[in-house]
Amino acid sequence: MKVRVRLAPSPTGTLHIGTARTAVFNWLFARHQGGQFLLRIEDTDKERSKPEFTTNILEGLKWLGLNWDEQPIIQSQCVDHHRAAIQKLLDAGLAYRCYASETELEAMRETQKAQGQAPRYDNRHRDLNPEQEAAFQSEGRSAVVRFRIDDDAAISWKDLVRGPMHWSGSDLGGDMVISRRAPAKEIGDPLYNLVVVVDDAAMSISHVIRGEDHIANTAKQLLIYEALGLPIPQFAHTPLILNSEGRKLSKRDGVTSISDFQAMGYTAQAMANYMTLLGWSVPEGTDERFTLQQAATIFSFDRVNKAGAKFDWDKLNWLNSQVLHDLPKDQLLHELKPLWSQAGWDLPEENWCLDLAELLGPSLTLLKDGVDQARPFFEEPTLQADGLNQLAVEGAKAGLSNLLDQLDSTSWDGFDVKQAQQLITNAAQAANIKKGVIMKSLRAALLGRLQGPDLITTWGLLARIGQDLNRLRRCL
Ligand code: GLU
Repeated sequence: MKVRVRLAPSPTGTLHIGTARTAVFNWLFARHQGGQFLLRIEDTDKERSKPEFTTNILEGLKWLGLNWDEQPIIQSQCVDHHRAAIQKLLDAGLAYRCYASETELEAMRETQKAQGQAPRYDNRHRDLNPEQEAAFQSEGRSAVVRFRIDDDAAISWKDLVRGPMHWSGSDLGGDMVISRRAPAKEIGDPLYNLVVVVDDAAMSISHVIRGEDHIANTAKQLLIYEALGLPIPQFAHTPLILNSEGRKLSKRDGVTSISDFQAMGYTAQAMANYMTLLGWSVPEGTDERFTLQQAATIFSFDRVNKAGAKFDWDKLNWLNSQVLHDLPKDQLLHELKPLWSQAGWDLPEENWCLDLAELLGPSLTLLKDGVDQARPFFEEPTLQADGLNQLAVEGAKAGLSNLLDQLDSTSWDGFDVKQAQQLITNAAQAANIKKGVIMKSLRAALLGRLQGPDLITTWGLLARIGQDLNRLRRCL
C-alpha cells in the first residue's frame, strides 16, 4: 500500500501550533514510510475562510521545512463530488431529508434537558412517508439532509496511537446532519464529516493522522465510509497540546500561531524539533535535539504518547538557544540580517557582519536577542547607571585618556588581539590602575554598560567601523 497522508487545515485563522504539530507527525510518518504528504485546504466555511490565512498556513509550513507533495487540494472546488455522495446516500435510503425547524429542534432539546437526558436528535423524520414529506414541502419548509446512524451500530478501529477503539451508534447523538438547511429538494452546503470522507477517499489517503479532538468524528466518518463503499484508511489520533493548567492550548494562552513564534525569534529548526517532542519521545539514548530529517528516520507511532503534552516554554527556549549556538556564522547571519535591516541599520561589509554574528551567537536564546545585543554596534549607546559608576572609579578616566593617546600615535586595525592587550596593559600602567579597571571602563565607554560579549572582539568590531574613539572621547 502506498502511504499517503494529508494535513487538512481550515483557513479560518493563522497556522496554529496544534495544526503545525499535526503536520509534523504527518510529515514524519510520510517521510519515514517513503510515502507522500499532501495538503487539503478546507475552505468550505465561506464566511470565516480568508485567502490571507491560506497564505499564512502555507508559508508557515514551508518555513518549518514541511514540504508537501502535489498541488494542494482546495476543498471548495470539490463540492460537486460532495453533493453527488449525498445524493447517493439519499438514493440508497441511507440518508434522508429532515424538515424539523430550528424552533422544533430547540423544543426537543429543552424537553430532553428537563428529563435529565443528553441532547440528541430523536430521529423524528427518519421514516417519513411520501405524504408526510409532501405536506412539509407544501408548508414551504426547508430541510437538512441527515445520515442514518443506528443506535446499535458497533464501530471499531485500531488506532495507531490509542490501540483498539470501540464506539456504539448510540454515542453519536442521533442521525447526523450532512448538509446545511436548503429549500426542500435541493442539497445545501455539505458538512465536514461527509466532505472529509469523500475527499480523503478521492485523494487515496491511506492514514488519517489528526488530533484526538477528532475521535468522535472518526466514529461517524467510519459509518460514512461503509455507507459509500469506500476503502477505509487507518487512523492515528495524536495527543492535544496543553497549557500549564493542563487544558487544551488555546488562543487565550497568548502566542499560538507559528508566525508569532517566528516573529518572536524562534528558529524553524527549534520549533520543528520542539513540536516533534510534544507528544513523541525519542528512543532511549537518542539525542533530543534533531532535525526533522533525522527524526523521520526513526519516527513511529509506538512512541507517540496517549496523554496530552504540556507546552513547556523553558524547553523550547533551551532548544532554540542550542540551535542558535550551533549555527555556523554564515547561517546565523542569514537569520539576523533581515532583522538588522528591519531595525533600520546600514550594514557594513559582509566580514564585519559575520564576525558580529559569531560574537553574539553564544549568548542568544531568541533571534531577537541578536537585535537587542547588536544595537550598541549600530547605534551609539547612552551611558547606563552601571557604566557611569564605573567611569567614576578612581583612575578610570585617566586610563581611557591614555588609551586614546596611544591610539593617536599607534593605529590599531581592530584585528590584532595581542596589540589590543598591550594597549590596555600600557594604559593601566600609565594611570596606575589595575588592568581590570581599565577593561571595565573600556567596556562602559564602548557599550554604555558593564555587560556584553568578549571585550577585545567588541572593541575590534567598533574600531573597524570607526566607532571606538568617539565613544572613548565622550567619557573624558
Ligand atoms: N479542517 C479540519 C480541522 O482543521 C480537518 C480535520 C481533519 O484532519 O480531518 O480541524
